[in-house]
Amino acid sequence: MSTFLGLIKEIPGISVDRFDGENLTSSVFFLSHCHLDHMQGLSDLFFVHIDEHKKYLYCSPITKTLLKNRFKFKNCCVKEVNVNTSIVIEYTVQDGTEILISVIPVSAGHCPGSVMFIFERNDISILYTGDFRINPEDFSKLKGLHYYEDSKLLPRTFTKIYLDTTFLSNDFPVFPTRQESLVKICEVTNEWLDKDPRNVVILECSATYGSEFLFVELSKMLNMKIHVRNDVYESYCCIAQLSYYVTNDPYSTPIHGCKRKISSLGLHCRSDVSNANIMTIIPSVMKWRNKDTSVVGEWDKVKERTFNVCYSTHSSLNELKVFIQYFNTLEIHPCVIKTEEETEVYHLLDSIKSKTEQVAVKKTYKLKLPNRKISKKIPFKSECFSSDDDSF
Ligand SMILES: [Zn+2]
Ligand SMILES: [Zn+2]
Repeated sequence: MSTFLGLIKEIPGISVDRFDGENLTSSVFFLSHCHLDHMQGLSDLFFVHIDEHKKYLYCSPITKTLLKNRFKFKNCCVKEVNVNTSIVIEYTVQDGTEILISVIPVSAGHCPGSVMFIFERNDISILYTGDFRINPEDFSKLKGLHYYEDSKLLPRTFTKIYLDTTFLSNDFPVFPTRQESLVKICEVTNEWLDKDPRNVVILECSATYGSEFLFVELSKMLNMKIHVRNDVYESYCCIAQLSYYVTNDPYSTPIHGCKRKISSLGLHCRSDVSNANIMTIIPSVMKWRNKDTSVVGEWDKVKERTFNVCYSTHSSLNELKVFIQYFNTLEIHPCVIKTEEETEVYHLLDSIKSKTEQVAVKKTYKLKLPNRKISKKIPFKSECFSSDDDSF
C-alpha cells in the first residue's frame, strides 16, 4: 500500500500517484498504474478541476483505458505516454516560475500498463518506480533506465529514487519468479481437473487489479478462460490483449477468479458445484512472512483442498538490493512505509546504500532534452517476468 504523498521535492509543481490536498496546487500530474492506493483523490471532480485549469494527467495508454472505465473526463485532459519515449513538458508553477522537465516512462512489470517515471530537470534526475517487479536479469532490457557511452550501455545515475519498498523487509528475502509460481498453479490445477469432470478451481486473489498478469498467463498455459466478476470483465474488455482470456459466463469454464469476498465459502456464480468439487488456490505473499519464501507452493495445513502459492507483483528484498546497487544511487525515498516498520526500512536502506558506496564509481552523463514526438501505439506485452523487450 503506497504511503507516498505525491510531491517530488526536487521537481516543483508535479504530483505523482496522489491527487488530493496540496497536490491540487500542482501543475502537472502523473499516474504510474491503475491500483486504488495510487489513485487517491482521482474523481470526476478532479478531472473537472484539471480541465478548468488547463492541467494534464500523464499515464500509459492502458492506464488511460482503465481510467475511462472508472471516471468521466475530456479525452484531452489525459495524455498518453509510451515506454522509453522521452517527452518534454513545460509548465508554470504557482509563483509564476516556468519549468521545463523531461519525462521518460519505463515498464514497471507490476500490472498491465504500469510504468516507472524518470523526471529530469537541469542536472537533477529522479526515478519514481511506482509499484514494480523486474527480474534483475532483465534490468539491462529496460532501455529507458540506461544510456549509451562509447557504444556501451550503462545504467543511469539518479539523484534520488522514490522506491516501491512494499517488501523491503528481512521477512521477504526471496520470491519465486512469477513464471515458477504460474507453473506450480498450473500443475495443481491440471491434477485437480483430471480427477473428476465436475471439479472446479477458485483463484482467491485479493486486489481487484492485482491479478491481471496471473489470469492472462494462466489462461494461456491452461488454454481455458478465467471467469471474472462483471466489473472486472467490463474493464478487461476495453483492452484487447486481456479480454481474450476472461469470460463473464460462469458455466463456460472450471477456472474462477470471480470471488468477491475472500472469507465466503463455495462458488457463488454457479449452482451446480458442490463444495467437495472445489479446490481453492491462494496466490499471496503475506502467508510466506517469516517462512521459506523460496518455496513456491504448499497445501494449507488447516483448510481442506486449499493450495497456497507464493506469488508477488512487487520486488523481494534481494531484488530491491540488486536494483539499488545496479543504479548506484545514494538517496532513496521509501514509498511504502508503515510506522511500525520505519526503523527496519531505514536501517536496511542504510546498509544497502553503504555497500553501494563501497563500490561507487563516479558516473556522469549529460542531460539531453529529447524531442517532443510521442510514437503512436505500443504493443501490449504481458510476459513481464520473462520479457524479451520492455514494450509492454
Ligand atoms: Zn499496484
Ligand atoms: Zn465464477
